[in-house]
Amino acid sequence: MEQEREEKVSKNFIEQIIEKDLAEGTCKAVCTRFPPEPNGYLHIGHAKSILLNYGLAQKYGGKFNLRFDDTNPTKEKTEFVESIIADVKWLGADFEDRLFFASNYFEQMYEAAVKLIKKGKAFVCDLSPEEIRSYRGTLTEPGKESPYRDRTVEENLQLFENMKNGMYADGEKVLRAKIDMASPNMNMRDPVIYRVAHISHHNTGDEWCIYPMYDFAHPIEDAIEGVTHSICTLEFEDHRPLYDWVVRELEYEQPPKQIEFAKLYLNNVVTGKRYIKQLVEKEIVDGWDDPRLVSISALRRRGFTPESIKRFVELCGVSKSDSVADYAMLEYCIRDDLKLKCARMMAVLDPVKLIIDNYPEDQMEELDVERNLENPELGMKKVPFGRELYIDREDFMENPPKKYFRLFPGNEVRLMGAYFVRCTGFEKDADGNVTEIHCTYDPETKCGSGFTGRKVKGTIHWVAAKTAVQVEARLYENIIDEEKGVYNKEDGSMNLNPNSLTVLKNCFVEPAILGAEPYDKFQFVRQGFFCVDVKDSRPDALVFNRIVSLKSSFKLPK
Ligand code: ATP
Ligand code: MG
Repeated sequence: MEQEREEKVSKNFIEQIIEKDLAEGTCKAVCTRFPPEPNGYLHIGHAKSILLNYGLAQKYGGKFNLRFDDTNPTKEKTEFVESIIADVKWLGADFEDRLFFASNYFEQMYEAAVKLIKKGKAFVCDLSPEEIRSYRGTLTEPGKESPYRDRTVEENLQLFENMKNGMYADGEKVLRAKIDMASPNMNMRDPVIYRVAHISHHNTGDEWCIYPMYDFAHPIEDAIEGVTHSICTLEFEDHRPLYDWVVRELEYEQPPKQIEFAKLYLNNVVTGKRYIKQLVEKEIVDGWDDPRLVSISALRRRGFTPESIKRFVELCGVSKSDSVADYAMLEYCIRDDLKLKCARMMAVLDPVKLIIDNYPEDQMEELDVERNLENPELGMKKVPFGRELYIDREDFMENPPKKYFRLFPGNEVRLMGAYFVRCTGFEKDADGNVTEIHCTYDPETKCGSGFTGRKVKGTIHWVAAKTAVQVEARLYENIIDEEKGVYNKEDGSMNLNPNSLTVLKNCFVEPAILGAEPYDKFQFVRQGFFCVDVKDSRPDALVFNRIVSLKSSFKLPK
């Protein structure tokens, strides 16, 4: 059913463009790219771009490049290169050996600039950055031409070479494209394409002291790699005329085409690098991969799967107008993905002892239970049962309201996969906290015994005390106070939710959990999906992140 519906979904506007280009022969074989700047960790928005570009290459039998757009030496770090490669691979976007660095094209970019100078399409300008700004004009007034605009080709070639040879200080001279100071598009008013910057670059060291500007470099990178469709986000729409100018003036035979789509935004979620950095630096979160964040490494650590992220970005769709998705949709996607994949476990997060007074003191038995009732392929397991159990504190009430069907004095419930028990009493400490609950069991009611007697309305989960494994569970809420929204309008800070992390150190899980490895995922019945934490979990002290609870108000859009 679901598949049928998905196949009927009409093609997005980028697919329509590509199919037209293929049909008309202006594109022979599709090549896309993901071009991150290695200046931070990737987040869910980048995942959309990665999966979109990779998906298009797959769909049209083309190629997909991972290219580091590392032309700005001030902000970039090798640390980020490694994390980005790991994230792209994890998402399943296989770039094979098509890994490129824009900084390897500096020589070709330099030659491209020389070509423009020779064509009379670029000039060296001595105006200061402030003067360039004031000469630029405004949206309503045209700009003023630079007094250096009419330098001869020979003079420009010499000055540009001098720039390259380190003869000028930063900001002393720039190379500008000669386009049109009266253009209604500010990006076309003789934009700067090369600047002097005496800064070491993480890849090329001190080889260069001039660096190309993004708008000049990017189309060249695309053209060199044979990218056919250069997909970027909407803020570059106004830069497209410059992109087209660069590839036209450089006379590339197969010029790439820029296509813009709307960024992915998540309601009440922090995605901006600047803000995540703030949270990391102020130690409000445990690094870039804190499970409350939506960087790819954080989502992975929390327990999201590549499949769930892919499903999510597909549901978000591709469009030209900004829209905001709900985190609840991402939660829907992970629940749906894990529902059949994960083994289910009984885990008690807030334990209180339940003692079965009529169960023999030293006896233990093993019950046969399916690992996942909805997926028999996961097989069966043994669950130990004994006289003393742990149950969750909220499954017992001394004075229950109406419609409370769990344990209370006199009431009978089913212990999941085991027997019926009837509550006979309980004990409290001096502060009024329940310390233990007493009950009796009915041996006739053993699960799977064919018992067809009386019915009970409540079923609760439990863990046998003797064999229980003590673990830590971390429960998460949005790090943002959703009532107030992400940003505090007065001082630009973030509105944080003080309850975004709850650490429960005294949880008990059935022994089948032993041996769980980082990233292993389970459904703790009635509690949610949990994932073994990669940073803090140890074989003898397991730590679990709650990926998502089981309850959902989200409905898949029709
Ligand atoms: P941010 O400012 O959010 O960290 P960025 O745009 O600075 O992101 P880049 O490394 O420049 O990050 O982006 C790499 C690619 O990812 C670009 O093609 C960019 O358009 C795309 N991208 C970035 N953010 C999003 C988003 N929210 N949704 C979709 N694509 C995005
Ligand atoms: Mg950027």
